[in-house]
Amino acid sequence: MKILVINCGSSSLKYQILDMTNETLLCKGLVEKIGIDGSVINHTKIGQDKFVLETPMKDHKDAIAQVLAAIQDPDHGVVTSMSEIGAVGHRVVHGGEHYADSVLIDDEVMKVIEECSDLAPLHNPPNIAGIEACKALMPDTPMVAVFDTAFHQTMPPESYIYALPYEYYTKYGIRRYGFHGTSHKYVARRAAEMLNVSLEDLKLITCHLGNGASVSAIKHGKCIDTSMGFTPLEGLVMGTRSGDIDPALVTYIREKENLAPGKANEILNKKSGVLGISGVSSDFRDIEAAVEEGNERAALALKVFAHKVRFYIGAYIAEMNGCDAIVFTAGVGENDITMRELICHDLGNLGIKIDPLKNKIRGKETIISADDAKVKALLIPTNEELMIARDTFQIIKKLK
Ligand code: AMP
Repeated sequence: MKILVINCGSSSLKYQILDMTNETLLCKGLVEKIGIDGSVINHTKIGQDKFVLETPMKDHKDAIAQVLAAIQDPDHGVVTSMSEIGAVGHRVVHGGEHYADSVLIDDEVMKVIEECSDLAPLHNPPNIAGIEACKALMPDTPMVAVFDTAFHQTMPPESYIYALPYEYYTKYGIRRYGFHGTSHKYVARRAAEMLNVSLEDLKLITCHLGNGASVSAIKHGKCIDTSMGFTPLEGLVMGTRSGDIDPALVTYIREKENLAPGKANEILNKKSGVLGISGVSSDFRDIEAAVEEGNERAALALKVFAHKVRFYIGAYIAEMNGCDAIVFTAGVGENDITMRELICHDLGNLGIKIDPLKNKIRGKETIISADDAKVKALLIPTNEELMIARDTFQIIKKLK
């Protein structure tokens, strides 16, 4: 069965088609500038050069129509008709407390995803637009929603309840939800396979370190804690997001800087993180280049980032009473040799020790810990699309 995976943002859309008989990727693409001037589709059939087409796309339905045309194109397509697509798997950011797993989309599910828009106003509405567009153009194809929050629904209340008046939880659903769940789930499963140990017998700490970043504690296959909270702002220092701060700072900065409503939120989400500290960039490559030139604030940004990852690693080792393996994934985790070294430096008493030679690697599945380290350190490139396709395939198989 071939599965189309769709990940819709407000003005962009990523897609892939995977053949699930052997989990091979057939094509992938990115549509950008949906609803604005310069709409463009970049489509790559695996093994061929990229095909780029600039054409007006006023909404997500136009974008999906272009995707369907590209995947059926006689030159760079991968199917001869849409009937070859067995199902569509949609990435949906927020499933609230309703879904602890992926689910077949029906009217009831759509209603819940819409309700959850209140919790993820920037993310769920474009996800819904993508689903609606696919439903309009492929009315007979079953669709599955795969939620970023689902994997974290196994957290116990002591991990997800904020110490606020309890009625905010019951009235407004204010609690910690966690994000990047599809990535944490994928790398946890791969880690178990790489170590040749059942996931149920492992205590794992998974570090998804990209432009957005989060750490999860996964005990016996279940997430018991994660660093992101009610929104993806909590937790680690990120590219442009502050992560954990003293909440009193919001009102303090608002008053000092005389900020307009909404501005403080924008500063914490878009102007903070390693960008805010370094003043250079949110991209770790630029920051490391600045460090080479002697930029001290750039060096400080890297130290603060690493400090916070170490802080969570320590906390999760305490929460799980130990840890068998730490996994590094996403842009920084997969590629940044220096950052992995900084994070794992001088943690020998916790059993964490990376081998500097094994660590000199980018973007490949491998073990980077020293042979005598008690805690294995793994590098695992994430593959959220494959995880979405797998979940979709499992659900659709049961329908047949
Ligand atoms: P992601 O959000 O997972 O796509 O990660 C994107 C981030 O990964 C970029 O902003 C960079 O900071 C980081 N990154 C990608 N490649 C490298 C590299 N070779 N060295 C250091 N950081 C990298």
